[in-house]
Amino acid sequence: MPLPRITRKRQFVQGLLIAAALLLPFASVSGKPLLRMDIAKMTLFLAGIPLRIDQFYLVLLVILVCVASFLLLTAILGRVWCGWLCPQTVFNDVAELLVKRFRGKSSAGAARLIEHAVALVIASTIAFNLFCWFLPPRQVVMNLRAVTTHPAMVVTFVLLTLFGYLNLILVKRSFCRSYCPYGRFQTALMDAGTLNLSFLEEVRDRCLRCNACVRTCPMGIDIREGFQIECIGCGRCIDACRGVMERKPEGTGLIDYRFGTVKGTRFKFGNITVVLTLVTLLLTAGLVWAVLGRTQNAFAVQRVATADTRHLPDGSVAQPWRAIIGNRSESPQTYSLRIEGQASSGVELLGQVQDIIVAPNQHRDVTFMIHSAKNSVPQGKIVLQLVSGDRVAASVAVTP
Ligand code: SF4
Ligand code: SF4
Repeated sequence: MPLPRITRKRQFVQGLLIAAALLLPFASVSGKPLLRMDIAKMTLFLAGIPLRIDQFYLVLLVILVCVASFLLLTAILGRVWCGWLCPQTVFNDVAELLVKRFRGKSSAGAARLIEHAVALVIASTIAFNLFCWFLPPRQVVMNLRAVTTHPAMVVTFVLLTLFGYLNLILVKRSFCRSYCPYGRFQTALMDAGTLNLSFLEEVRDRCLRCNACVRTCPMGIDIREGFQIECIGCGRCIDACRGVMERKPEGTGLIDYRFGTVKGTRFKFGNITVVLTLVTLLLTAGLVWAVLGRTQNAFAVQRVATADTRHLPDGSVAQPWRAIIGNRSESPQTYSLRIEGQASSGVELLGQVQDIIVAPNQHRDVTFMIHSAKNSVPQGKIVLQLVSGDRVAASVAVTP
């Protein structure tokens, strides 16, 4: 019976990945992008939840969760990331697959032309897709069509396309072999339970020395020589060996994936995997807690440094101040400013401190005066409150 082929599984996974990368920028939840770092709004949309860039600790947590998950994936799956999921591999695999379909059916010159056309189409699609993670796709299309209005964006698109095209035509897999630092870094994350692809030493004597595994390897290595850092775990050599060996009575291939280095070892948690799992879970829990508990308002107050304190004829004093009010909710909010314990302090706020309307997910600057009546200059700090409806949304202590 033919043994299962790895290549089909890898192509299926890569197909899912490509579909996700192309379609996710179009997905939305209740009218909000499912996942986008919206540059125009300076907002990260995560599962439809808007996180403004001023909530930097949340954005930082998201980045940390991504990094920890990525390291955990490496500790469990080893270099399978490189051979199955890394964009550099996926783009090269797609380009090779498309070009292969025309090879043999056309002349050498036409095949070369097709290779360049495929590289150009893939590179421009990637460039367009990259923009869509930062701007709504419809806006990307409109901006790219308005060359004179958005020259910087059009130039960036052309440069990204050129970069991707040259990568697919000239660099190809030599990047993975010679330049990618992550391949080197991965070896430090491997532990006793990491998935490896290896030549099965226990059946070495059955090797036919046909070299089918070497010929099919995109990295040009011979896996029979043992672990090599250049191996991206793509599994092509497994399929090649199975194709050869299943014509023999004894049947099975001589190369396979295995957890750890001992035959028959199932997945187990090594020390690195345990630590990374705990770190990932803690960070994820922290992110969920922080997102659910985040405040809906931002409030900061500062003296207007460019304007002096005014001493009025009646002996009172007025100081100019500036408040920055942020509305992180999904609907417009009306705010007002007041002083805590105002009635007894002899200090009041002047200027636009009532009916301050702030649009959803926006900030607004308001300039106002802290007015102190004659002989009532407050000693020490006063507390300014941001009020929304009947509720104190935030408060800040200032020293007039
Ligand atoms: S040795 Fe096998 S798994 Fe490693 S890169 Fe070559 S074909 Fe892929
Ligand atoms: S394909 Fe299999 S049998 Fe042929 S050389 Fe490689 S390991 Fe040996």
